Formats: sequence, C-alpha cells, structure tokens
Amino acid sequence: MRGALGGPRLLLRRLREVMAEPISAQARLDKIVVQIASNMVAEVCSLYVLRADGALELYATEGLKSEAVHLTTMRSGEGLVGLIAKSAEPLALADAQKHPAFSYKPETGEEIYHSFLGVPVLRGGNTLGVLVVQNRARRTYSEEEVEALQTTAMLLAEMVASGELEALARPGDDIAVRRPLSLKGTAIVDGVGLGHAVLHEPRVEIKHIVAEDVQGEIERLDGAIAAMRESIDRLIDDGDHGGPGEHREILETFRMFAHDRGWLRRLRETVTTGLTAEAAVERVQNDARARLLRQTDPYLRGRLHDLDDLASRLLHQLTGQPLFVPREALPENAILVARAMGPAALLDYDRARLRGLVLDDGGATSHVAVVARALGIPTVGDVANITSLAEPGDAIIVDGTSGEVQVRPQSDVEGAYAEKARLRARRQEQYHALRDVPAVTKDGTPIELHMNAGLLVDVPHVAETGAASIGLFRTELQFMVAPQFPRMREQYALYKSVMDAVPDRPVTFRTLDIGGDKILPYMTAYEEENPALGWRAIRIGLDRPGLLRSQIRALLRAGAGRELRIMFPMVATVEEFERAKEIADREVAYLTRHDYALPAVLRLGVMVEVPSLLWQLDEVAEKADFLSVGSNDLIQYLFAADRDNKRVAGRFDPLSPPALRALKMIVDAGAAHGKPVTLCGEIGGKPLEAMALIAIGYRGLSMPPASLGPVKTMVLGLDLGQTAHFVKDLMSRHAGRHSLRDELRSFAKAHKVAL
Ligand code: PEP
Ligand code: MG
Repeated sequence: MRGALGGPRLLLRRLREVMAEPISAQARLDKIVVQIASNMVAEVCSLYVLRADGALELYATEGLKSEAVHLTTMRSGEGLVGLIAKSAEPLALADAQKHPAFSYKPETGEEIYHSFLGVPVLRGGNTLGVLVVQNRARRTYSEEEVEALQTTAMLLAEMVASGELEALARPGDDIAVRRPLSLKGTAIVDGVGLGHAVLHEPRVEIKHIVAEDVQGEIERLDGAIAAMRESIDRLIDDGDHGGPGEHREILETFRMFAHDRGWLRRLRETVTTGLTAEAAVERVQNDARARLLRQTDPYLRGRLHDLDDLASRLLHQLTGQPLFVPREALPENAILVARAMGPAALLDYDRARLRGLVLDDGGATSHVAVVARALGIPTVGDVANITSLAEPGDAIIVDGTSGEVQVRPQSDVEGAYAEKARLRARRQEQYHALRDVPAVTKDGTPIELHMNAGLLVDVPHVAETGAASIGLFRTELQFMVAPQFPRMREQYALYKSVMDAVPDRPVTFRTLDIGGDKILPYMTAYEEENPALGWRAIRIGLDRPGLLRSQIRALLRAGAGRELRIMFPMVATVEEFERAKEIADREVAYLTRHDYALPAVLRLGVMVEVPSLLWQLDEVAEKADFLSVGSNDLIQYLFAADRDNKRVAGRFDPLSPPALRALKMIVDAGAAHGKPVTLCGEIGGKPLEAMALIAIGYRGLSMPPASLGPVKTMVLGLDLGQTAHFVKDLMSRHAGRHSLRDELRSFAKAHKVAL
C-alpha cells in the first residue's frame, strides 16, 4: 500500500474528475471503487450504502464478484461492515476472518482476502454507508491509510447525500439519507405546523473538497483560525457578548477549544491529505461528532455542541457564508430547526412566515420556549441531532401537542397532519366567533376569563381572544429574554406599553419571580440542593430590596393616572406580604415627594402558591386587596411533586379531593372577606379543571391565550347550579380518592358540557 502514503491527494484529484464526468450514477460508483483500489494498492474496494430499513447494501465493488452488487446486504451490527456502521468508527484488521463479527457472504467470493480496512461514510455525524478495502495478504494498515480512506469517504458522503444514488435503489429499498423520519421530543407549544426546514444556523455548503494548493489551504486555515480567535477574544474583552445566548462562559469554552493543540493539529494534518481547509474542518468535526454522539453523558454531549459551534464559526469564516438566515430569505411556511436558540433570536424572525420550531437542545422551561409560547409557534424540543437529520428545504411537520416531528413524511402521514391542522384552524375560527360573547353560564353566572402574559408580543392576544384583562403578567420574562439586567427605564417602558395596549382593563403585574427553574443567564447562580424550595421570588425581593424597589417604582410610574395592580409571588407568611407592602408604600411616598403622577388606584395582592398560606387565609385575605392562586406551584408543594419532573409531575391530580379542598378554602376565604380571588395556574385553562373550579366557587380564571376559546365554550354550556351540587357531593362521597377526573368527565359528557 505504498500508494496510500503519497497518494491521497492524487486520488482526490482523480475522484474529482470522475465526479464531474457526465456518466450514470452506477458507472460513476464503479469507476470510483476502481480508482480507490488502485490508489490504495488494494485488491478489493467496496461501497455499502445504508438503506432506510437499516440494512447496508453493496452498491459497488472492485474485486468482489460483481453479481453481488445490489444483492449482498448486511444488517446494522451484522458482520464487520455492520459493526462499522453501528460504531461509526474505522476498523482495520490484518486477519478479518478471525474477528468474531466476521460474517461470510458466499456470493461475494471474499474468502480469499485476509486483511480488511473499513471506514464509515459520515455526514453531520450520521452514518450513510461504509467504504471498505481488502487485501489478500495479512497486513497491518497504517494510520495514514486509515486517514486517507476516511478522507475519500467524505467525497462519497456528498454523493450519497446529493440524492444521485436514489435512482439505483430498487423499489422498497430506499436509501436512508432521504428516508422519512418520525422523531419524538418534548411537546413545548401546542399546535400543528407543516412546512419546510430552515436551519437557524445554516450549514455551510462546502463546494470545494479537494485542494488545488495544499500550502495555500494551510495558510487559509491558519488565517481563519487567527481571525476567529481574535473575534472571540474581542467578544470576551469588550463584555459585549454579541447578543443573547453568547454568554461569557460559552465564549470562554470557545476560547479553550480554539487554542486546543490536538484539534488544531488534526485540522492541519487533514489539510495535508489533500482537502481544502473547509473540507478538513468538516472532516475533523464529523469524527468528533460521531464519537461524542455515542456519549450518554450530558456534559460530554454539551461539549459536542460547543465544538459544533466552533467548527461552524470557522467554516463561516473560511467561506464567507452568513451565520444566520437573512430575514428576507425566510420562505413562507418555514419550520425553524435549531440546535439551541436564544429568545431574542427567535423574536428576530418574521412571525408571519414561521409555522413551527424544532430544537435539539431546549425543553419546556428553556427561555426560547417562553418566547415561542408567547408567539404561539408550535414547538417541539429535545429532538436529538435534529440539525443533522433534517436537510434545508425538507418537508417537515411539527406537532407541538404530541411532541412528534415528521421529517420528509410520506404523503399519507402528511395528509393526516394536514387534516389535523385544518380541524384546529376550524376550531380556532369557532373560538374566534365567540370573542365578543360574554362568558356566562347557562344559568346566568358571569365568569371572568383573563389572560396570562409576560412579553409585549402577548398583548395583542387580549383583543384577539376577548380576554377580560391580563390576570397575570409575569414580569420575569422580560428579564429572562434580555441579554443583561433590564434597567428601570426599560422596565418602565415595557409596563407602560402593556398598559397602553390594554387601556380599558387593569393589568395585574406580578413582581419578579426568578430563582427555581427561572434562571437569569447574566445573574450569578447559587448552587442549591433544591432550587424549587430555595432562594426565589419574593425571598430574593426582600433580601435584595433594591431590585424590588426599582421594579415597583417602574410600575408605579408606568401606571400613573390609572388602576395599577401588583401582586407578590411565593409569599409564605402574612408578614412577608406586609414587608413587601411597606416597600411599595415607601416608593409611593418617594414619588409623591418628587411630584410624580401616581396611579389613580393601587391594589396590592398576594399569590397563594405556598401551602403555609392555607393556614393564614383569614389574615392574608384581610390584608391583601386581592388573591391570585398560583396552582402550578401550590399543587407541586401540596403533593411534594416537582412540576418539571416528568416522573412525578402527573402523578397527583389537581382534580382530587385534597387539591379541590385546598382550592375551595382559598376562594371561600376571599368571599368571606369580600376580596376578589382569581386563579392563574395552568389548570384554569383546561376546560374540565375549569369546570370543577367554577363549581367550587371560582369566578375569575386567568389562562394562556389559546385556552380562552375552549374554556369559554365550556362555560357557555354549563349549568352551574347542577354542577356545583354534583361536585360538592362527589367531594364528600369520595374524600379518599386519588382522582375524581373520571366522574367529572362522565358528568360533563352526560350533560353535554364541551371539553
Ligand atoms: C403558578 O405557580 O401557578 C403560577 C401561575 O406562576 P408560575 O407558573 O409562573 O410559577
Ligand atoms: Mg408560581
């Protein structure tokens, strides 16, 4: 195999010529394997291509019997070829037949060949096939030979990915690269979106794989690395972190990798095999991805993302291609596909063209999920490796309700989803028609349906849904999506815009509820064993009164001349509320002293979401102007079941006697003291739960915008007198039950209450 040492460059050049010839795909493959075998002084060269059914099919060979082409197949994991495909790693053996995985296929006539070298054909870390050379003599393949064959496999990866080989597949034996994929992730934002994949960070298209001038390529590579290092240093030194998501820690990791000797050496070595600088970056990254993708350790997988980002920066530096999709280049019906994404980046896209969002990294509590929810973009998160599995322009379907993502769906699947989307749209129209219909039960009790919000983009939903007002404005969302701490003037501007946009209805602002799962990227995080039980919300507000003071000042000023409602989250004792109220009083005094206009009416409320308040209800209802039940937290603390832990979140039912009793105590206390009580947790937006809440006495519910239509439809069909009687009886008869859900559902069905 002398040829392989001096020959990879020559081989690449020859292969490039073959690639350009106007011949059939099969003829091209046949020529390619001949060239590889001859250059590597091997008697055999074979290409196996991965099929949609997981089998590896022999697509071309020099040296094995030609009858075996398109006949011989290996299952994944079967034989040496299957092993390479599965492990995505090269395998070199002096005596292949002694390897326990060796599988003999008589039709190939390979029994006379002893040594074996196979490499995976990789693209974006995914295996597309296996390239093999074999020799009769028992020999050890050198590291350089393994490298050379891997480099050659890159060219073949491009050919497979281009779709050129599809014409060679027999019916039913489709090639895997373009196969339909049905993937499952975490459902984040409800809804179904059909469209075409747009990569948030477009993959760099490598047009030139083979170097014309190796020295020149090394210089290009060195130049690009230097420029990239400089730009990272600049970002760190300036403290200008280039936008949200690019926080110091990430940049420091980049810097570490950008100076990693092993990485740089591998890049240079790969260029010397005859690749262009950009092809070398891709090649080295492919290997790293294949290795890291098999890791289950989340820390190591996280490093893969950092390395991916770095390689991507380097590729953009080398090719001058843009790092992000230009706004005007976004197609209609775009399904955005991203590894991870900052919240501000999502806001930069034209919402009218976005049909869905799929994230590799990013679950329901990620900051981008907050924005996606506000924009109502069907979203699925935690879809491993999605940026490599979907090609730009691929048809793709996002089902944010079930958490399913269909890539390149077959027409029957597409038809089923299109029908689902049409049904949803029709239902939306029906809800829209109810916008101005008052929410009154059949027997005449009005129910106030409010809306939850947290960003300016939420506000138009008030008019669209006909919500009575914003019953919960989560002020922390502005803090979560911002690259740095919003100043008082920015807070003021947001609060004022929100109130201006809803001039005729009071907005209930909740003071900062950070900590727990709501983390600010720019704020020092304190390691806590149990963050949900830790330093969060009003606890931070009281310990760092400067923060709370400036927020209250911004609210008071923004609410000048109108009714302003402020409520405090995670209050555990009445005294905490009194201390918060003192801070508000002091701010009122300060603004009065300085001649600022004040709100016409100021109401201060308490969120009831820590169970200790259940035993201070009379006192808190007396002191507060209103109560708002945070059932998400209340239920998690009542049952000691983490709301974000999939194993336990659904274990206990809010529609159970203990939860309903607790909720009833709160609404009763409000009524006894003449104080309004609303409920603003997620259950208020679910028709069955809302039915039970109304039955036990709730007259105000605040919910996500999309829930208003379904809940109003339920209210309009409800006979409250009859339902209240039923629920009361149910709660007393089955006090020990885990759940009353089935009985409530049967009741609704029997009485034609729409759920
Ligand atoms: C709640 O806890 O129910 C609530 C409305 O607040 P959040 O979900 O923001 O904690
Ligand atoms: Mg809460």
